[in-house]
Amino acid sequence: MGNVGPTFTDCSLPLGEFKPLDLEEFRSHAHQMVDFIADYYKNIESYPVLSQVQPGYLRSSLPRTAPYRPESLETILDDINKRVVPGMTHWLSPNFFAFFPATVSTAAFLGEMLCTAFNCVGFNWLASPAATELEMVVLDWLAAMLKLPKSFMFSGINYICVQRTGGGVLQGTTSEAIICTLVAARDRALEIIGVENMSKLVVYGSDQTHSTYTKACKLAGILPGNIRLINTAVDTNFALSPSVLRRTIEADVADGLTPLYVCLTVGTTSTTAVDPLSQLADVAADHGIWIHVDAAYGGSACICPEFRHYLDGIERVDSLSLGPHKWLLSYLDCCCLWVKSPSLLVKALSTNPEYLRNKPSESYSVVDYKDWQIGTGRRFKSLRLWLVLRSYGVANLQTHIRSDVRMAKMFEGLVRSDRRFEIIVPTRFSLVCFRLNPSFLRSGPKRIELLNRKLLDWVNSTGRVYMTHTIVGGVYIMRFAVGATLTEDRHVVAAWELIKKGADALLKL
Ligand SMILES: *Cc1c(COP(=O)(O)O)cnc(C)c1O
Repeated sequence: MGNVGPTFTDCSLPLGEFKPLDLEEFRSHAHQMVDFIADYYKNIESYPVLSQVQPGYLRSSLPRTAPYRPESLETILDDINKRVVPGMTHWLSPNFFAFFPATVSTAAFLGEMLCTAFNCVGFNWLASPAATELEMVVLDWLAAMLKLPKSFMFSGINYICVQRTGGGVLQGTTSEAIICTLVAARDRALEIIGVENMSKLVVYGSDQTHSTYTKACKLAGILPGNIRLINTAVDTNFALSPSVLRRTIEADVADGLTPLYVCLTVGTTSTTAVDPLSQLADVAADHGIWIHVDAAYGGSACICPEFRHYLDGIERVDSLSLGPHKWLLSYLDCCCLWVKSPSLLVKALSTNPEYLRNKPSESYSVVDYKDWQIGTGRRFKSLRLWLVLRSYGVANLQTHIRSDVRMAKMFEGLVRSDRRFEIIVPTRFSLVCFRLNPSFLRSGPKRIELLNRKLLDWVNSTGRVYMTHTIVGGVYIMRFAVGATLTEDRHVVAAWELIKKGADALLKL
């Protein structure tokens, strides 16, 4: 029997009854998993923030095929600890200061548990009325917290004319929010100018607009040559200039093109620049352009009265997106999109196959969210946001934003106290943009850039802190984004000490 492989032997053994949702097992394993997660959070500070593994590290340490026979949860968790965790960059580490942090909370985790547990696929109202209606309520709540005008809300509607109100929807990411609104704007325009003129549609943003915008424009069929990303400069803190936008649009109109859509940003990714909404809306309104505001990160701060002015003029725009998965403790993925005319979204994105037809939808008295998004299936994600809003209340969420901003200001103060460093733009939210630029070196820009690259590489290689960089106006800068949920003052101070130590070593060379 020496030639009989283990697989054959395995196959011949009885497997026992298979119950993928055995409730006793569910209870004990889920408890075990919560303990595992709590321990992970507890130990997270001891791992290198930025993973130190090499590409392909995992493939070589795992079997080539899935197991034929079941494995125990203990064995699997053991592999997670030994093989997966070392290959992770720990976004929830209190020493994570890269990109924009992805914030989390107990409440959102519990909401996610429910969302996953119910597993409703709420593509239309009838598929799970609560999923649709809770989403409408939560989006209205958040709209009210942001003091958005009623024109973005469902509230006040009687259910007879649901097609005529504004309202919000949960998308996965900003990219989807932009694609959906862009397609709505496109179809509205094509009705007027004719589909044969598709190649005349022009869209606008700035060189600081998130890169996903260009992707969305391409997906929506905008010619790459018709995507205008207007240059910004340090003297306006990298905000889009209304007069330059006007000139660009007028030149396109003079060329016989049709201005379609502009994406403005409240809190750009590189430096948290804020485009002046009111003045830009004046320009866009003159040409009937769809105005979208991308407030993926900065928008969350606007639940605090002292930041709300960044949204001044919001009543004049067509749509707004904001990602609570960034700064409102909500876990990925959660992007809120509000639109004034959902009917345009529905017109562009609705489908009506026989197998989804039902009386409430046909009475036009309900919202069918499948017509507000790219896909059909959708999760009951509003539970996550609902639990966050209810469990913490507006007061605590404001405290959370203010605490991150305070820590960023503290870091900014530390940087300013060391004359070898400079702050590149004033710190507005919780991102500090700075670089090493010791005047005594009298170096050229190339040398300064190299110095900063080396410093950042060294800091990240220690595994004790993770920061990222950007280049604006041709200048290489380091970004220090405060906001990981577990970050405290001591982590910010320790990060600064580490950066200083790196600078000391570099400048001695
Ligand atoms: C992070 C970010 C995005 C991408 O957002 P996701 O919804 O997380 O994909 C878009 N725009 C800005 C300004 C951002 O900061």
